[in-house]
Amino acid sequence: MLTIEGLSKTYSNGVNAIGDLSLEVAHGEIIAVVGGSGCGKSTLLRMIAGLDLPTSGSIHVNGQRITAPNPAIGVVFQEPRLLPWLNVARNIGFGIDEMPRAEQETRISRALELIGLEGYDKRLPKELSGGQAQRVAIARALVAQPDVLLLDEPFSALDPLIRKALHGQMLELWKAYRTTMIIVTHDADEAVALADRIVVMAPKPGRIHSTLQIVDKRPRDPLSDRFAAQRREVLAALDAAAEFPQSNPNASADIGAGAWW
Ligand code: ADP
Ligand code: MG
Repeated sequence: MLTIEGLSKTYSNGVNAIGDLSLEVAHGEIIAVVGGSGCGKSTLLRMIAGLDLPTSGSIHVNGQRITAPNPAIGVVFQEPRLLPWLNVARNIGFGIDEMPRAEQETRISRALELIGLEGYDKRLPKELSGGQAQRVAIARALVAQPDVLLLDEPFSALDPLIRKALHGQMLELWKAYRTTMIIVTHDADEAVALADRIVVMAPKPGRIHSTLQIVDKRPRDPLSDRFAAQRREVLAALDAAAEFPQSNPNASADIGAGAWW
């Protein structure tokens, strides 16, 4: 449902942020994108969101070429970016305010229930904790029922316990909406907990170094040996990717794929 073909991006200052990246994502799939800082993860997400244009290559969602922001694609950033003068319900309903009021209300209360913030609808953003505010941001993206949800390090600013709780909540949301998700993260645990497939990026230019498939049912037990082995595999791939030579002919070799088929 999401097809990225031969994507590259060179910024006007000459930085080659993405070089010839291709990726197919299936409907309902959860992809985690990991990689060192500066390897082009945010650039990739911004292009999928239509917020930035590729230098070459293409992105299609359900057959439609992406060249501008599109309601089929929702985005959640590291900071919640809520509007401080609107209450929680109005923040969540911000992108669907053209819809009939009753439909809006139904969607907003369902989202509030799913993110565990029933009764918070009249609160202002300043009355929320960081974790609550980020849940509202995720709900705001999901009420529009996008086909693809892009999350750029959505939990990085939160403490580890809250982050873990939010992983569970993300999976509840995914069960309810079955949205295809691409989540950029620095955290190997987060990738192993959530993803069907982990895409490890190599830098300069940003490209896919390897992909790891995880077929285990969710929720996954972070204390299990299997989880620990998968985490190690991700960390090893990250290390290998950081040292990946620039013009490797096997630039997108699936070195890690198959480990957990
Ligand atoms: P990541 O999200 O993986 O940390 P980014 O996509 O933010 O990486 O950045 C990839 C590379 O592109 C970096 O070298 C960064 O400095 C550069 N870059 C990002 N945005 C811009 C921009 N708007 N103009 C010029 N260079 C940029
Ligand atoms: Mg980034």
